[in-house]
Amino acid sequence: MTSESGGPRCDRGAGDAAGHPAPRENDQLRRFAGIWCRAVHPLAATTMTAEEFEGYLLPLAQRLSAALRSSPFDTEAAYEVGAALVDAQCTEPDALPAILGVIDAHLVSCSSPGVPFSRPSGESFPGPSGESFPGPSGESFSGPSDEPSHEPLADEEARARCVRLQHALAAGFVRELRERERDEQEAISRAAMAARTEAEKALHASEAKFQAVFEGAVIGVGIAGLDGEVLVVNDAMARMFGGMDFFRPGRNVTEFVHPDDVPGAHELYRELVNGERDHFRIEKPHYRDDGSELWTNLTVTLLRDSSGAPQYQLALAEDITEHRQLRERLRYEATHDELTGLPNRTLFLERLDQVLAADADAERFGVCYLDLDGFKAVNDSLGHVVGDRLLTAVAERLQRCVKAPTELLARVGGDEFLALVTGPAAQTDGAGLARRMLAALAEPVRIEGRELRVRASIGVVDGRAGEIGRAEVLRSADITMYRAKAAGGNRFEIADADSNARVIARHSLTNGLPSALEKGEFFIEYQPLVRLTDGTVRGAEALVRWLHPLHGVLGPDQFIPLAEDTGLIVPLGRWVLEQAARQAREWRDAAEDDESLRVNVNLSPCQLSHPTLVSDTVAVLENAGLCPSALCLEVTENDLIGADETALRPLRQLADLGVDIALDDFGTGYSNLSYLRRLPVSQLKLDRSFTRGMQRAPADPVDVKIVEGIVSLAHTLDLAVTVEGVETAVQAEHLRGLGCDTAQGWYYARPGPPERLHTLALADAS
Ligand code: C2E
Ligand code: CA
Ligand code: CA
Repeated sequence: MTSESGGPRCDRGAGDAAGHPAPRENDQLRRFAGIWCRAVHPLAATTMTAEEFEGYLLPLAQRLSAALRSSPFDTEAAYEVGAALVDAQCTEPDALPAILGVIDAHLVSCSSPGVPFSRPSGESFPGPSGESFPGPSGESFSGPSDEPSHEPLADEEARARCVRLQHALAAGFVRELRERERDEQEAISRAAMAARTEAEKALHASEAKFQAVFEGAVIGVGIAGLDGEVLVVNDAMARMFGGMDFFRPGRNVTEFVHPDDVPGAHELYRELVNGERDHFRIEKPHYRDDGSELWTNLTVTLLRDSSGAPQYQLALAEDITEHRQLRERLRYEATHDELTGLPNRTLFLERLDQVLAADADAERFGVCYLDLDGFKAVNDSLGHVVGDRLLTAVAERLQRCVKAPTELLARVGGDEFLALVTGPAAQTDGAGLARRMLAALAEPVRIEGRELRVRASIGVVDGRAGEIGRAEVLRSADITMYRAKAAGGNRFEIADADSNARVIARHSLTNGLPSALEKGEFFIEYQPLVRLTDGTVRGAEALVRWLHPLHGVLGPDQFIPLAEDTGLIVPLGRWVLEQAARQAREWRDAAEDDESLRVNVNLSPCQLSHPTLVSDTVAVLENAGLCPSALCLEVTENDLIGADETALRPLRQLADLGVDIALDDFGTGYSNLSYLRRLPVSQLKLDRSFTRGMQRAPADPVDVKIVEGIVSLAHTLDLAVTVEGVETAVQAEHLRGLGCDTAQGWYYARPGPPERLHTLALADAS
């Protein structure tokens, strides 16, 4: 019925869009108001026609839509819309569910310009009887939220906001309704009082008046003696409790006590009948005649006789069962995850806050932050439906590990779960829970005939209430989980301050790394390479540094591994090569000598296997106007161990072009020396560890023998030998005696700015 009468209005809305330059969004809101009107108008006790009612709803719809996108987000408007709907008499029992149902199903889609309706207008909307808005059983709203939501984040945000707007609207609605009923109650109280005080003067008239209010009242009214015996109740009260029989003669209000009565209720009652207070008001549970539960908002007033002595008690009861159920359901929805039914982040944080605020001595706690390993791959390759089923299965298994009431499991994000253990020290063991959770996931999960292996990384934080704040607990759990992942996953790690600090430092460096190159935060120092026979500077090794805005100058050992992990080493390495080549050209120009200074540049394994290594290097040399023999690329021994011919091809091509290749850190790997013959290298850089034993005289005889052996082998293979880490004159002299060709080390110079090399080289020349 409603959809027929509502159809034309929706069509007119669409026509507007076609015929007039009305903004599309306004058009969508008009359609929204149309749907809303059709759902709610039949339930409103309003005198407005459907057209007028729709006109009334349109500005409300606009306010909700504006609130949905407000920044900062504010629900006040929704609260007021709730009140406005009560003003329009939308007060029948089913009205609020219908109001919320339409908002839930259509507000988001009608508020985002460019996004079409989630379903064709008029096809379906939550019906007035609440068929799409479930009762206390707690299923979800109809509409888009029924489908698994895999919308982009913006949509999720909009949905979350929409739910909060519904909560605010419901709160405003209930408050306004309550206010009206309170006005009504006051009128009744006044009439009852008047009935008493004016009894002598106009007994009949006032009793008739009281009777009229009493009988006609929407809220339940009852009078009992001070001993609790029920004397009279009105129809509304009888209906509320399931029939007049409930209040059959002789019944006493003390029989109506519910086992879960709110604390303090009995006390209030006792004070009242003893004449110590004149009224009280509480929300209170009861059982109806059929045993079902009823919640009332109950105001009990003491009626005194003309001398002021207590005489009767007057009870005014408002049935708030539905409001409460709605409130509970909204609360449930706000605190539970739709997919798995587990508590969500909100509820988890509430519990955590309670635990952390508890008395410091007693309460210990453990938090486990679990993140599935490789879940994204499952989602991407097998689809969201399988992904969701996997999450549900994981949630069930994890739930079986936690023991209420001291343990709580929540789903706090896509594949992230948080578990909380609380209680006395002996029973509080985050690691124990983490172990149980991993064990619970050990068996593969079967979905659609597939066996999916589930792995997870868990960060465990143990602590004592009062000693640590919520933010720190969560951050520490997050960092520790990340450590578990970095250590290979499928394990748990326990938080400790040192590891946290390391991860944070690493994390902050990794974050800053990508932009550092653009911001020009890297620079290069050059360390001279000295010919041992005559002590002249033959060139320099380029060593990169990072001038970090917070941490100052960082050495390559602190960031090269991160750059390698993130792939940034390729552009960074190319930049170093460009700088170094340009620098070598400058040195050569300044020395007016094209043969002298050469530059050594380190290569990472990622660069070695990068397809453009050869072409990039050739281009860099050409741009700088440098011949290939002016460049030496340093590759570590470890990077070449086991490399096959294909892997070596780029290096061989570069060597064929005339670029020198040096085997860096030689002696630290365990390569077979005869293997050297296969490599396209022309130099060995003997690792510092071999020459350390020669810093002082007499030199370590074993080191001497080794160096002697390596030098002779290298020379046999036609390889030049550079020694690293020369720090003393004794060492330099010894190494020269052993036949080493070139030396590098603090004895000559520490790494420094390029100008210094020029000065050193000039000093040689003079
Ligand atoms: P490396 O290639 O073995 O470089 C020599 C390292 O030894 C340098 O450390 C240098 O400062 C240090 N050193 C030089 N003389 C002495 C000495 O007499 N005594 C002592 N104790 N140390 C000395 P640095 O600059 O910290 O570089 C560390 C490593 O970082 C380098 O080791 C190299 O593997 C890497 N690296 C530096 N720049 C780059 C680059 O541009 N790209 C790549 N991929 N790696 C680089
Ligand atoms: Ca090197
Ligand atoms: Ca080295």
